[in-house]
Amino acid sequence: MLNGIPASHGIGIGSICVIEEYDLTYEAVKIEDTEKEQKRFDKAIEQFKEETSRMAEDIRSRIGPKEAEILESHMVMISDPTMAGEMSKMIAVGQCAEAAVEAVCDMFIGMFSKMDDEFMQQRAADISDIKLSLLKILLGIEEVDIGSVPAGTILVARDLTPSMTSQIKKENVAGILTEIGGKTSHSAILARALEIPAVLSVPNITTLVKNKDTAIVDGTEGNVYINPEGDILSGYIIKREEHIRKQAELKKFFGKETKTADGISPELFCNIGTPQDAKKAMECDGEGVGLFRSEFLFMDNKHMPTEEEQFLAYKEAAETLGGKVLIIRTLDIGGDKDIPYLNMKKEENPFLGYRAVRYCLGNKESYSIQLRAILRASAFGKVKIMVPLVTCVEEIRAVKDLLTEIKKDLDQEGFAYDKNIEVGCMIETPSASLIADLLAKESDFFSIGTNDLTQYTMSVDRGNADVAYLYSTFQPSVLRSIKHIIDCGKSAGIPVGMCGEAAADPLFIPLLISFGLSEFSVNPVLVLTARCIISKWSKKEADELAEKVMSLSTEAEILALLKESVKE
Ligand code: PEP
Ligand code: MG
Repeated sequence: MLNGIPASHGIGIGSICVIEEYDLTYEAVKIEDTEKEQKRFDKAIEQFKEETSRMAEDIRSRIGPKEAEILESHMVMISDPTMAGEMSKMIAVGQCAEAAVEAVCDMFIGMFSKMDDEFMQQRAADISDIKLSLLKILLGIEEVDIGSVPAGTILVARDLTPSMTSQIKKENVAGILTEIGGKTSHSAILARALEIPAVLSVPNITTLVKNKDTAIVDGTEGNVYINPEGDILSGYIIKREEHIRKQAELKKFFGKETKTADGISPELFCNIGTPQDAKKAMECDGEGVGLFRSEFLFMDNKHMPTEEEQFLAYKEAAETLGGKVLIIRTLDIGGDKDIPYLNMKKEENPFLGYRAVRYCLGNKESYSIQLRAILRASAFGKVKIMVPLVTCVEEIRAVKDLLTEIKKDLDQEGFAYDKNIEVGCMIETPSASLIADLLAKESDFFSIGTNDLTQYTMSVDRGNADVAYLYSTFQPSVLRSIKHIIDCGKSAGIPVGMCGEAAADPLFIPLLISFGLSEFSVNPVLVLTARCIISKWSKKEADELAEKVMSLSTEAEILALLKESVKE
């Protein structure tokens, strides 16, 4: 048996498909038979066009024409005589096809990326894609097409990038195993959204398995079995059925009010990453959106989304919610989220660097575009603004000052917006927690980001497997911090929510009931689970448990007590 971090609940049983990392290095030898090399190059171009056209067709039918057009433009570019012609010229003087492709593409990339025009800069990204695809074909690298793996596949990769995750078809992938990543890495969050069992940070998993091995992925416990014995396999088939049955039972909480056993009604919101997810939040019976991670809009694009594009996305989400709360978190990039077209500097300590509100306040022009778009969307629903990674009062004041300026502009331009739009802080740094009383005076609401709060309080990188044993929301320091934040919010009379992953943790929920959390924001697929757990606890019982928990000194003791106190 192997172990890793349980990142997405459930049991997956299936056949392994390893997604290899490929190596694009080649030897740039002098070519004698240039005619033969030209033929090899022509064949690669043909294959590129065929594959691209097939992918464009698939994307057109599955996603939409706009996305397919990007790939179609690649075919047009490579058919342009200047590009392929320049490559052929280099081959004719004895360069190998790989070197010709690399040199010509790099020349165009350099040229386009220097241009100020956004459209031209996009061309640089397109040519980078073309270069990668052509080199893979020339070097005979066969990449797994994640979108077309057969049903019952267990995907195994060193890491799963958000773009890889977005190709996954839920009906075909039974489980996910990776060598790096933690519970709150963004791929883990996406795996949960797709309801695919996942175990991350399984040491050396890519080298320990081969294609077609059978695997069991226990995403609840973090256990992995490769080619299991008959009795283990049959045991897990029963467990998988049990899990599916429990999921079905939760359906009885659909449409019910969220309330504790003694009638306290916290709100139960959802975390989303795209406007389409807002639909999923409603289908899963969420009561609003407590966290719209707006950075996914930026990450899914090859250019900075314009005010209009952002406005339409936020408006779509607001309208889908039909008057229910939509808390939009302003751009939170940096850390483990990079956006290539922003050309952010590589940093020694990205999680401690130019991230989130720090980046936004340093780039007020683009931040204003986002704030304008959010304000304009506020005319179409109950929109609130949330600021990530706040560490000091000056930051929230600076955002509010900027909003005041933008509101004046919008008034002058005659745009409608919610004049009393609420602005809240994400409390996810130890500094924000320590000054929660001061921040509360400047905020309309708080939302606790336990994913980062745990990382920063415990000083552990949230994706680093070697220190994952310290990454726990059940550490006494993290619990004290959370209780303190909620107390400060209560004293100031502002609501305190939680949008970190801990809000949906069945062991954590009674503590949050006791502390008096007013809003839980969870992955849409966990709404009914959270509602079910909340319904089992009265405030009095939760208080008794929390009092004992808060008197304990170690995470192990706390976890043992919470596990013992689970209500079936
Ligand atoms: C958090 O830090 O808890 C959070 C919700 O934000 P993210 O996971 O996007 O950093
Ligand atoms: Mg965070």
